[in-house]
Amino acid sequence: MSLSSAEAQRIVKDAVEARRLESGPARALLPHLGDPVVREALFEGASESKRRGKGEVVTFSRNVFIPLTNLCRDRCTYCTFAKQPDSAEAHTYDLAEVAEVTRGGVKTGCIEALFCLGDKPEIAYRSHAAWLEERGYASTPAYLVEACKVSFEGGMLPHTNAGILSVEQMEALRPWNASMGLMLETTSQRLRQRGMPHFHAPDKDPAVRIRMHDEAGELAIPFTTGLLIGIGETPEERLETLETIRAIDERHGHIQETIVQPFHPKPGTGMRAASPLSDDEVAAWVAMARLVLGPDHHVQAPPNLAPDVLELLLRAGVDDWGGVSPVTVDFINPESPWPTLRELRERTEAAGHVLRERLPVHPDRITGDPEKWLDPNVRAVLPRFADAEGYARSDRPGSLEAA
Ligand code: SF4
Repeated sequence: MSLSSAEAQRIVKDAVEARRLESGPARALLPHLGDPVVREALFEGASESKRRGKGEVVTFSRNVFIPLTNLCRDRCTYCTFAKQPDSAEAHTYDLAEVAEVTRGGVKTGCIEALFCLGDKPEIAYRSHAAWLEERGYASTPAYLVEACKVSFEGGMLPHTNAGILSVEQMEALRPWNASMGLMLETTSQRLRQRGMPHFHAPDKDPAVRIRMHDEAGELAIPFTTGLLIGIGETPEERLETLETIRAIDERHGHIQETIVQPFHPKPGTGMRAASPLSDDEVAAWVAMARLVLGPDHHVQAPPNLAPDVLELLLRAGVDDWGGVSPVTVDFINPESPWPTLRELRERTEAAGHVLRERLPVHPDRITGDPEKWLDPNVRAVLPRFADAEGYARSDRPGSLEAA
C-alpha cells in the first residue's frame, strides 16, 4: 500500500516539530523509502531540521590518516583494509613514520591525526605480538598511546578509532586525543551468523560495541559513531541502529557525530559481487538519520563515497563532511579519492551553506563545558588550533582560506 504525499509530509513535519522521528512513524515510512514522493518529503523535513539545529554551517576536519597497523584479528567480508602478516601490503608504522606523517600534516595545515587501525592483531598473529614485545609494548593499544603522543607532541590533535578498547585503554589514550570513535555499524546480530559479513569478526558483536560506546560516555570522551549501510542489514535493522545511537547519546550526551557510511563492494573480497545502495537510497538514510537523531545532532556523510550527489546529501540534512585530507588517501576506501577542499567549498556554498573547518572535536564541545569533555593536556593546546567559537583558526597556515 502506498503512503500518500500528505501522509508522508505529516509524519515528517511532526518529527521536525518534535525534534525526533519516533519509532512508530519511522516504521510507517520504511516500506516507502523508494517512493520519490516520500523521499522528497524526507529531504524537505531533513533540510528544515538541519537548518533549525545548525543554521547554514557545514563543517569538515582537515586531517592526515595514520593506519597504525593494517593487521586485524577480525575478518569482515567487505574489508580490504586488513592484511595478513605475509602480505606485501601488511604494515605497522614505527614511531619515526608516525612523526614523518605528522610533519607532513603540520606542513599542510592539517589539525587532525586520524589513527585508524585493525583490532587486536597481537591475539591472532604471533609475529605482531613479537614486534610489539621487541619494542616493550604489551598490546597494540599500549603502542597506540605512544604513537598518539608522538603526533600530539609533533603539533597535531589525534582522533583514534582502534576498534574495541577497554576502559583502561581509553583512559590512557584520552590525554593525547581530542576525541575518539567506533562505528557502531549495525545492531544486527543476524550479520554475525555463518555466511554473513561479521561471522569471523568477534569485535563486531553489537553488544560489545554498544558497551564500549557506553564506557566512552562514562569517561566523557567526545565520541564519533556511525552506521555502515548496505552490508546486508534490513531497513528495520538500520533504523534500530539509529535508534540505538540515539539512546546511547541520551544516556551520556557524548556522541559528537554520527556517520552514515555507504558500503562499496571491493574486488578481492567476499562481498565483491554485492550490490551497493544507490546514491538516492544513501541520501534517504542520511535524511532518516537527521530526523531520528534530531536537529542538534551532527550528521556526517563522507564526501568521497557519494561524490556525484553532495548537493543531495546537503538537502538530506548533512552538516559535516568529516575528515578530508590533502595529504593521505582514505585507507578504508582507497579507490575513492577525496574532493579537493576548493571543490568541497564551492559545491557546499553553491548549495546555500557555509563551509567551516573544525578540529577533530566539534566546536560545541570546545565552547560548551570543555573541562568535562577534554583532558587538561588537550585543553592546554587548544588556543593554537581553535578560535573563540571553537572552529579551526583561520589565521593559521594552511587554513581553509588558503585552500
Ligand atoms: S574489524 Fe575493521 S579492519 Fe578488521 S576486518 Fe573488520 S572492517 Fe577490516
